[in-house]
Amino acid sequence: MAEQSKKRSVADRNITYCLRCYKPQDNLPVHLARGCMKTSTPDERAEELQKAKVSNREWIRKGRTWDYDQLCEILPDRPSRLSMMKELLQRGFFIKNQPDDSELATTTSTTVIAPSTKDWQKILKVAKADFLQIYGNLQRGSKVSSAEKTLYRYYCEAILVFRHHQCPGALEGLTDAEWVNRRQHSGRVVIGISSHVTSTKQTATFALTNREEAWFQLYFQKIRPENIRPEKVSNSFFLSSTGEAVHSVSQDMDRLHEMYKLPVLRSRDVRKAIEATAQMLSADNQEAIRQYLTHSTGGAQQDRMQQPQFVVDTAVLLDSLAGFTSDDDPDTPGTSVECGPPSKDFSAFLARFPVSLGGQPPNKKQRVNEGFAEDRVFYDRWRSTQYAKREEYLLSQFTHRKPSAVKVAGLIAKEGWRANHPRPEDIERLWRPARRVTIETDETIIKNVSQQTWAGLAIKNFGPQQGLGVVATQPFSKGDIVCDYHGKVITAAAGRAMMQDMHNEPGYLFFFKSGSRDMCIDAQTFPCDCHPVTDTIGRRINHSSKGPNLKPLHCVLKVDGEDRHVILFRALQDITVDTQLKFDYGVSRKSFRGEGLDLEWLDE
Ligand SMILES: [Zn+2]
Ligand SMILES: [Zn+2]
Repeated sequence: MAEQSKKRSVADRNITYCLRCYKPQDNLPVHLARGCMKTSTPDERAEELQKAKVSNREWIRKGRTWDYDQLCEILPDRPSRLSMMKELLQRGFFIKNQPDDSELATTTSTTVIAPSTKDWQKILKVAKADFLQIYGNLQRGSKVSSAEKTLYRYYCEAILVFRHHQCPGALEGLTDAEWVNRRQHSGRVVIGISSHVTSTKQTATFALTNREEAWFQLYFQKIRPENIRPEKVSNSFFLSSTGEAVHSVSQDMDRLHEMYKLPVLRSRDVRKAIEATAQMLSADNQEAIRQYLTHSTGGAQQDRMQQPQFVVDTAVLLDSLAGFTSDDDPDTPGTSVECGPPSKDFSAFLARFPVSLGGQPPNKKQRVNEGFAEDRVFYDRWRSTQYAKREEYLLSQFTHRKPSAVKVAGLIAKEGWRANHPRPEDIERLWRPARRVTIETDETIIKNVSQQTWAGLAIKNFGPQQGLGVVATQPFSKGDIVCDYHGKVITAAAGRAMMQDMHNEPGYLFFFKSGSRDMCIDAQTFPCDCHPVTDTIGRRINHSSKGPNLKPLHCVLKVDGEDRHVILFRALQDITVDTQLKFDYGVSRKSFRGEGLDLEWLDE
């Protein structure tokens, strides 16, 4: 017996994973010879054995330990992160810097219950005081933490889900262009979400109150622009703090309920409940409600959702059904709040826990011991303060030349920062001032010219008189390249011939000089051969000699391996969100070469 157990323990100590079949082997040389490598030579097997041993040792040294901060980066979504943690712990991994057990417990015990008529309004009432406070701070330009900004977005989403009873899936499809094209109608603001060719998101139309519109517009102007990442293109209205389209409004709603310790509600159940309540209405009104709630179900009746008056009437009907009364509730927080504001303010917090470049934020125990609230509001603000300091420090280390991301990453590693630091690409992006000197070799510009993926712009319908134009959906700084005037490059003579065919209307033609050659960009022929399904945005920008905010700039870029003449639009001044973009050619030359055409030329 003793002999046998000794043998086993030796074998246990030598367990090695076979890198071919991924199974643990008591005796890997034998396993390789009889199984996975039986046709190989002894030398090959010896080499494989060596590799497996190295891999085994490396895994034990490095692979078994996780850092909670690292998990936060990989899985920003809290519920997924917590279930991943549980799984890792069960499998014997170690996790450093774990949050307290109580924080883990809150999400696992959430229950889903069937809503009663008033349940779904509760979150809007309970969270409103906090929401209005953030709204006020945003308006005044006071400091608002990233946690507060997220709460603000959740609340906006909640208005659409729990007051306007829209499907979460439809909201995920709401775009910046749909927001800028909202319409005033009968005292409400009508927004349509259309189905997008490339996605399965649902369509929807709903009517916000004017107050709600103001809340959303503030999100659009103050919070959303900060989340836009230039390297990621997203035209979604609701952007996560990492710049991606919000991927699950349902999960956001769960989190909002958790924050206020309310039971989680499914929006589908809420919509069912309201349809049940609607049964006391006439058949026609019932049908109207049904269409407002689930616009995407199709059918001929759906056309009514195209009529703004129908949408507004139904929204008002829905409000009366759900017991929402006047829109003119006071701005001051009146409702009682279950999660009261912390008793001590943030400056006291900073005095007790000073922010340093290399420091760690206080954990929950430390926070509570010092008399601060249990929640993570101050913790998050502490972290964002440190983040800003670190960003400033990193930028100060590169004064003469723009650093590469690799260089910045090296410095971050040298400082030993493992979380809560700007990404190297961010520092690269934020660096000034030589940013625009090498436009013609800028890979992002070349990619955007080639693929027409310019971000932060939306085509807006300004009504029957003005027609289409382009507005900014992200702020631009003076000197930024906004987009290009995309079209086929032709000779000026060919352009003039086209113009004569169009009764001397310049249309979508852009004349410019390259050295001694007269050229033209033909954006009249639409769609272009290279982008058959894209409404390329540059051609939609209106021309204005009075108040231009863009200046055309002629460049020669290497696009897809070929030199191409490109007209880029550069911001003449800082441009805020929702501003219409307008460019000026620079000069108008009538009677060009005696041909009598009123041509506008880019004057270089
Ligand atoms: Zn094997
Ligand atoms: Zn094209």
